[in-house]
Amino acid sequence: MANPTIGSIRCPLGDGCTGEVRQYARGKRKYYWVCDHGMITPNLPAGQAFIEKHMKAIEGQPENTPAPEQPAPETKPKAKKKSLLSALWEDDDE
Ligand SMILES: [Zn+2]
Repeated sequence: MANPTIGSIRCPLGDGCTGEVRQYARGKRKYYWVCDHGMITPNLPAGQAFIEKHMKAIEGQPENTPAPEQPAPETKPKAKKKSLLSALWEDDDE
């Protein structure tokens, strides 16, 4: 499965070269980019910082935005729902 593209970066290796910034889906979730020069993976902290500083994040990227439609936790009614018939019977008892 391909790692998601989370942004773009102006590749410093060549004029006019733009790379697609991706992040490994597994492991340490490091950034890298793919461009005309290949897959650039500056996996040490300085390289990672470079990408973070220079990349332009794609809007609506799933990594940093909270999921907009999270299903609300189900609230279960504590009282059992009474049927109309049993409600009538209970009313009679009072
Ligand atoms: Zn490049």
